[in-house]
Formats: sequence, C-alpha cells, structure tokens
Amino acid sequence: MRRVLLTLMACVVTLAVAWYFAGLPGHVTAQIGATTIEMVTPVAALGLLLAFILLYLLFRLLGALLRLPRTAARWDAERDRRRGDQAVTRALLALAAGDKADARREASRARQWLGDTPQTLLLAAEAGRLAGRDDEAETAFRCLTDRPDAAFLGYRGLLRQALTRQDWSEAAALARQAEAAHPGAEWLRHQRERLAIRSGNWAEALDLVESDLVRAALAAAAARAEPDPVRAAKLAREAWKADASLAPAALVYATRLRAEGREARAQAVIRHTWTLAPHPDLAAFALAPIAEPLARAQAAQRLAEANPEQVESRLLLARTALDAGLTGEARHQAMLARGSGVNQRRLWLLLADIEEAEHGDSEAGRLAQRDALRQAATADADPEWRCAECHTPQPVWSAACPACGAAGSLRWGPARAGSYPVPAIVA
Ligand SMILES: [Zn+2]
Repeated sequence: MRRVLLTLMACVVTLAVAWYFAGLPGHVTAQIGATTIEMVTPVAALGLLLAFILLYLLFRLLGALLRLPRTAARWDAERDRRRGDQAVTRALLALAAGDKADARREASRARQWLGDTPQTLLLAAEAGRLAGRDDEAETAFRCLTDRPDAAFLGYRGLLRQALTRQDWSEAAALARQAEAAHPGAEWLRHQRERLAIRSGNWAEALDLVESDLVRAALAAAAARAEPDPVRAAKLAREAWKADASLAPAALVYATRLRAEGREARAQAVIRHTWTLAPHPDLAAFALAPIAEPLARAQAAQRLAEANPEQVESRLLLARTALDAGLTGEARHQAMLARGSGVNQRRLWLLLADIEEAEHGDSEAGRLAQRDALRQAATADADPEWRCAECHTPQPVWSAACPACGAAGSLRWGPARAGSYPVPAIVA
C-alpha cells in the first residue's frame, strides 16, 4: 500500500514538472558559427536533460572499462576461493575417512587455490602424515613455524614426529620452542613432563609434576644427580618431605645429613621411615658407621624398636644377632618371623646359617642345614621393587619405571602380585 502511494506521488510530481516545463513561455536561440538554432523553451529544457543523461552514461561506461582488469582479477579470486573452500572440505572428509590419496590431492588443490594459509598448510601436513610421507609433513610443519600466528601448530606437529621417532633431545628442543610460541598449553606441559622423565632430566620434570608420590621420586633422583651440595640437600629434603615412606628418598636425605656431619638427624630420618615402611637398605645405612658386631646388634635393636612386629625388623635383629654370635636370639627372631606367616627365601637361608653357627660341622647340623636349604628352594621369592603401573619387577629402584616410563611408580613389596603395602604419605 505504501509503495503504491509512493509510486502515485512520483507520477504526480513528474507530471507536474513536465506540465510546468511544457507551459514555459518564450524561445531559446543559440548561434554556433554561421548556424542559428532556435527552439521553444520546453524543447530546449528536454534537450539539456537528455544531453546530461547521455554524458553521465558515457562516464560510467568509461569507468567500467578502466576498472575491467581489476574486476576480472576479483572474479578470479572469488572463483579460486570457492574452489579452495570446496577442496578444504573434501580434504577434511578424506582425512576423517582415512583416505590417504584423496586427502593429499585435495590438500594440494586447496594450497594451489588458497595459497599457504595456516589451514591449507596444516591440511597438507596431516595428509602427508596419514600417507606416511613424513618429509612432506615436516616441510609443511616447518612452513607453519615461520608464521607468527600459527607457529605453535607447526612446533606441535614437529614435536609429535620427533616423539614417534623417539628422538628425545630434538623433541625436548621443540617442546621449548612450542612453549615460547604458546605458553601454558596443558597438552604441552604433559609432553614436556614425559620428555624430561624419558631423558632423565629430573629437575625439569620436578617443575612440571603435581602428585606428591611422583614429586618424592623425582626429587630423590634429582638430588642424587645434583652436583651442587646445597641444592642437592634441598632436593633431598623435599623428596623426604613429599613421601617419608619412600626408602630412596630417606636414604638420599640421610646421606646428605651424614655428609654435613649431622649424624643424629640422619639416624632420626632413617628411624622415622623405618616406622612407616622398613627396607633393608635403611638398616644397612643406619649400621654402616658401626664395625663391632655386638654394637651393630645393639644399634639394630634401637632401629627395630620403632617397628618391632615388622618382618624386616625381625630379620634385621636375627641377622645382626647371628653376626654377634648370639645364635639363641637369632633363632628366636627368625622363628617369630616364621610364626607370623613369612615363608621367604631369605628367612630359610638365614635359618640355614643359624643351624651352621649353632651345630657346626656335626651330623645334626648338616641335616638341619640341608632341610632349611630345601625349604629355601621352594619358598616365596624375596620382596622386590615392582612397577605399580605395568607390574614389571626391577632389580634396583629408579624414579621412573624403565619398562613403561611411569614416574614414581616403583613400590617395594612382596614378589607376589597384589599384596603391596600401601605407602604412607607425609605431606
Ligand atoms: Zn612400569
């Protein structure tokens, strides 16, 4: 309705203007050279209007002709963009479907039509990776690292390639560059932690982990490797504070304290860990400065007081008593251990030694010894370090499992699976 009204008004105005011009009186005379043109005013006005319109159209045509190359280029660019967008979509579909040849072809077309943008470079790299063309993927990832807006994507791709090749030093360098390009990425933090553990860079790994159990193991390993005694002492203390039940952490801390001349404090640390989780190495450390067998047996008594019922305490008391010639006490402690259900090889070997010490080279002694050795052959295996993640036994403790790489996963316990002591944690 509004449009009809507007059209009607425009018609009325045009008619009024035409009517006004048609009604103009007088003549217009123009003399060009010898020619004289004379016409009535309405015709002259109409001619002037037509001349103006013609001139305007002529200028528009000239402008369009001048802009023609630019317009054609824009049309071409639009066509390339349209084709490029279609190629990007097809390449993504081929990547999702795992179609290697299609993915590479469409990624190459996308690059041809859209140029080297972060999207097309990433597509080309992923298509190369899918097709097993690592050189192609690497070239595309390197191009990405040259672009400030997409450098992280390039470093991330190169890092994944280095991890696949197990080139840990290259991977660590790339992780540092990726961190500089895009600080604080969670994925990258996890990768850096894994790399630091893999390459045995305990101090760097320690800065990246959060769990107390893992921190204790990494700090203990870092303290062992640290050449600066002040820093090593700090790390050793941190390890023991993070998990006082971890024997290697207690040992590295106590070793530092002993080196500083703080023997009483070192013994207190060992005693505290013995109450939480006794380990033969703790006893070996505590008794190391004492040479005289009777004094060693007395020192063992003081250590075992902290956790008298534990099998490690019984075995320690029995062994030190035997070394001091106290075979009665040795047998008493060994039998207490046996009475608590322990049937480990080391207990039967100890009993064999007790028989030998007690009966000497007599017939009864030889018989008792043979019996104990026969029991040892079929007894349970001795406790060992074992990975809580992959359950692989390890002859020595290390901060990360050599089999699966899990940090802080080694636990000391019976050789049988599923019966490990739960370590106490002192925060
Ligand atoms: Zn493992």
